[in-house]
Amino acid sequence: MTGQKIQVRNPRSGLIDYSITPAGRADIAAACHDLRNKQKAWHHQGLDHRIATLRAFGAAMKQQRRQITDSLINDTGRRGISIMEVDTITPAIERWIKIAGDGEQVTGGRSTALPFITYQIDKRPYELVGVISPWNFPLTLSLIDAIPALLAGAAVIIKPSEVTPRFAAPLREVIASIPDLAAVLTIIDGDGATGQALVDAVDVICFTGSVATGRKVGEQAMKNFSVSFLELGGKDPAIILENANVERAATAILRGSIINSGQACQSIERIYVARKLYDDFLEKLVAKAKKVTLNTPDIRQGHLGPIICLKQADIIARQIADARAKGAVIHTGGKVENHGGLWCYPTVITGLTDEMNIMQEESFGPLLPVIPFDSREEAVAMANDSDFGLSASVFAATAEEAAAFGAHIEAGAISINDAALTSLMYEAEKDSFKLSGMGTSRMGPSGYLRFFRKQSFMTNTAEVFTIDQFDEKNAPDF
Ligand code: NAD
Repeated sequence: MTGQKIQVRNPRSGLIDYSITPAGRADIAAACHDLRNKQKAWHHQGLDHRIATLRAFGAAMKQQRRQITDSLINDTGRRGISIMEVDTITPAIERWIKIAGDGEQVTGGRSTALPFITYQIDKRPYELVGVISPWNFPLTLSLIDAIPALLAGAAVIIKPSEVTPRFAAPLREVIASIPDLAAVLTIIDGDGATGQALVDAVDVICFTGSVATGRKVGEQAMKNFSVSFLELGGKDPAIILENANVERAATAILRGSIINSGQACQSIERIYVARKLYDDFLEKLVAKAKKVTLNTPDIRQGHLGPIICLKQADIIARQIADARAKGAVIHTGGKVENHGGLWCYPTVITGLTDEMNIMQEESFGPLLPVIPFDSREEAVAMANDSDFGLSASVFAATAEEAAAFGAHIEAGAISINDAALTSLMYEAEKDSFKLSGMGTSRMGPSGYLRFFRKQSFMTNTAEVFTIDQFDEKNAPDF
């Protein structure tokens, strides 16, 4: 049972030029039934077979590079990052293959209390993993959990965002060209209702998106006693200590705040600067921000693509208006511009107070609020004064000093003397703090091992106990 067509807006033209037909509950149930059946062979064929199949997938992606990239460009309105999304899939597959090989060792031993009982711990993959992804990096965030889950031996069903669904069609073609992969990997179209139905159909759900939706997904999964891994929003602080290199900090923070037009979970959304450096930092940041250009009308020129999602453009415009109305000073940018699609220049803002929405809510746009602090204690308190705890950046004279300060910040990843390094690094495990997420890190070895249940095999190498040994009359005195 499929639902009514969903219209899709082009982020560069602002026009509706695509549609998808959402999968209904019955479609999802049928697809999941099929995937579960085929998962058994996928699991038993072994890791070497899965590695070969995923390598074939990487090679086929390279062959279809143009088609997938073109679709992603239409989905997101930006070119360079779309090419990067496609080109980083093969290295990602190789990275997970290495981790999967390292995770093959069988662990076991013997009981310390009763040494004649030995044990061996085996890893059993979950049968079916669901992936629900957002619109900011449509391909990357659809495959980031799917690849390790497949290598682990699970079958996977992916539902991309209804805001950016175009890349799914060429990706399905690539998958179809590798029958062994097509048996265990399906992509369905749809919106929130489809996502909801998917949560009910899988054993594990990997969700990337907003806190509001993540909360619903987590609650729904819990009712089914299924596992949820939630990768949610952020309001990342950058803290510039009084002995930091201002030029380096301004360059890194500008990039870390506005790359992909700020549509990145780990983008810097609050900038705290030691009072001593404040004027110098602000001057440098504003000068650098003024040099940033938009990739319109020519997609081959300019630093920033459009705001992909209409709803997000409203949030950005509302946050700027709210800050302005409450007395903030806008140094650059300051409005969402209509060029068919919607764009926003880097917007450096000062004169902020806690009552302003921009200080509390995620912006997910190129907004850079800059706030001075007078002591390190005050900087820690302000940085931690947030419902979010995804990541943070600290700038100081030395890496050691920045790391020591970073240990006071409530966030899963701390970039030292640079900004938003989580977007460049997949090996470092990190768990979200507060509302930014739940469940084991998607990065590093745990991003693979979380797709297994542990199953222990215990052997008694001696005579079995008898029930008489538990007769009360044989109990020792106490
Ligand atoms: P969203 O929560 O609106 O939607 C995400 C996905 O959930 C979409 O595919 C949507 O169709 C689906 N969905 C909606 N309602 C659902 C429901 N009830 N049940 C199941 N699925 C449902 O988020 P978005 O606007 O697409 O993405 C932006 C958000 O994603 C931001 O908050 C951003 O910070 C976050 N994000 C987090 C990370 C991370 O790794 N922590 C990475 C990228 C984006």
